[in-house]
Amino acid sequence: MKDKRSGKIVLVAHCLLNVHSLEENLAIYPGLEEEVIKLLIEKGVSLYQILCPEIELSGIFRKALPKESYDHPKIRKIYHQLADKIADNLRWYIKKDYKIRAVIGAEASPSCGIELVGKWKEKITGKKEFPRDIEFIPGMGVFMEELKSSLAKINIHPEWIGIPGKSIRTLKPESFKETLNKLAKLL
Ligand code: SF4
Repeated sequence: MKDKRSGKIVLVAHCLLNVHSLEENLAIYPGLEEEVIKLLIEKGVSLYQILCPEIELSGIFRKALPKESYDHPKIRKIYHQLADKIADNLRWYIKKDYKIRAVIGAEASPSCGIELVGKWKEKITGKKEFPRDIEFIPGMGVFMEELKSSLAKINIHPEWIGIPGKSIRTLKPESFKETLNKLAKLL
C-alpha cells in the first residue's frame, strides 16, 4: 500500500537548516533559510541535511575564509571521505527508486559554493580581512567538488544550485530572488 511520500529528495547544505553552523556575522535568519525552506515544503520534497564539512574539519570557532584556504590535499581527503559516506548512505534511497533531485549549496562558501567562491584580492598588503579583501569568482567549493564526484560514481546526477549568502546578497541584492525562481523551476 502506498503512503504519502513523494519519492523526491533534495540534499541541502547544513547551514540552510541551521544558521548556527555559520561563522560569526554571516547569519541573516534566526534559525533557518525561511524562504528557501518554504519553497521546498511547497514542492513536496524531503530534505537530506548534509553535515557541515567545515565543522567536521575544524569545529565551530572558525573564521570565514576564501577557497584557497581549503583547497589542500589533506582537507580534500577529509572532504572526500565525508562525501563518500553520504553517497554510501544515499544508495539505500536509490535502491527504493527515490530520486535525488538537487543539491542545494551555499553560494560563495569555500566548501559549499556551487557557482561562486571567494578569493583573496590581488596585491593586498598587510593583514587580510574577510570580507573586505575578498572577491567572488566562478567556481565550486571544495566539499561540493568532492560530493559531485562521489555522487557521479554511484550514478547520481542531480541539479546543483547555490543559495546566495550574506556577502553575495549585499553585493547583488536581486540574486536571492533570481535563485528562488530558478529553484522553483528546477523542482
Ligand atoms: S556553507 Fe557549508 S561549510 Fe559553510 S556553514 Fe554552511 S554547511 Fe558549513
